[in-house]
Amino acid sequence: MSEEITFADLDLSPEVMDSLKKMGVKRPTTIQQKAIPLMMDNISVIAKAPTGTGKTFAFGIPILEYLNLDSKFVQALILCPTRELALQITTELKSLAKYIKGFRVTALIGGQSMRLQTERVQKNPQVIVATPGRLIDMVGRKLVDISQIYTLVLDEADEMLKMGFINDIRKVMALTPKDKQIALFSATMPREIQNITWEFMSDAAEIDVMPKAEDHPDIDQYIVECPEKDKLSAIIRIMAKEDLRKTIVFCNTKNTTSKVGEMLTHAGVSARVLHGDIGQGTRNKVMDQYRADKFDVLVATDVVARGIDVDDIEAIFNYDIPKENELYLHRIGRTARAGKSGKAFSLVAYLDRPRMEEIIRYTKTDPKPYEI
Ligand code: ADP
Ligand code: MG
Repeated sequence: MSEEITFADLDLSPEVMDSLKKMGVKRPTTIQQKAIPLMMDNISVIAKAPTGTGKTFAFGIPILEYLNLDSKFVQALILCPTRELALQITTELKSLAKYIKGFRVTALIGGQSMRLQTERVQKNPQVIVATPGRLIDMVGRKLVDISQIYTLVLDEADEMLKMGFINDIRKVMALTPKDKQIALFSATMPREIQNITWEFMSDAAEIDVMPKAEDHPDIDQYIVECPEKDKLSAIIRIMAKEDLRKTIVFCNTKNTTSKVGEMLTHAGVSARVLHGDIGQGTRNKVMDQYRADKFDVLVATDVVARGIDVDDIEAIFNYDIPKENELYLHRIGRTARAGKSGKAFSLVAYLDRPRMEEIIRYTKTDPKPYEI
């Protein structure tokens, strides 16, 4: 294990060291220890790492270290699956570059005025964070030039493929220099991703940060056995008993989120719902309100909640047991962030038992039975 590596060992600039200090970030995470030196040596990386392990700094730090601040070209392009994530990465890069004079980053995302985004591109950002659809659209209209980038980051690559961005990613590969550095980050490595890596990343170094329960040492995980129809009242009882306020309730479908949101509101809990069909403006507003503690319970599907980074979530509930094993880790990773502790409750009805047992085997977690 490379446990002893510190940020000081990574040969970073005083500006980046200062901003890390200012943010209270003390030690590099495993993915940061592994990816930063490689990326600073201009090596492409294929990194498999679970959510919440610090991937944004893992690619953000090396990018900031080699930027040419005088150049008018876009030098780094970061693609990610959702608008929320693009905005979040942009914010994190800005904090990281707090002491780097002349650093410019902009987000190109759907659901926002293209004119406004074009104006921002005209200010010559060195870094662009984008969702694939909007980026391809703007490149096609010659509103943005990505032909001279050094580095392409594909963040949450598996999620981008799930959302149907494979062709856009291929287009970006074709529109950018052949010898660019590529950093691909993904929580899972399905065959479609392996195809991309074989096709475009033959010299890349591979980094594998295993999804392990040990990555979530500060999360107390529980199984709450209860009939399907009692899941909601169980959540309300647990929230009262554990004195929980800021929580996320995960559901598998849009319909269930709406239903659960309504029932919670009816029960006097301040809750808001987020799923893929809710418009961008509303989505941003809801997330801002959640961060600002304007309501307590966010009821969400996986697509929306993935990658969302809110530091003070006290617990998550699996109202529905996730259909994929790794989603369980992504969900529980929403709590206990930034060094805090957290709780994860899975509501298991009779029919959920086989699914939950498989999750436990796969993730090697050991959730304890919880008595309401
Ligand atoms: P991922 O992209 O892997 O899901 P993020 O990059 O969003 O993870 O980081 C998750 C959280 O951890 C963020 O709040 C980030 O500021 C924080 N973080 C990142 N690196 C470190 C570190 N080395 N030490 C402590 N906190 C960190
Ligand atoms: Mg991330």
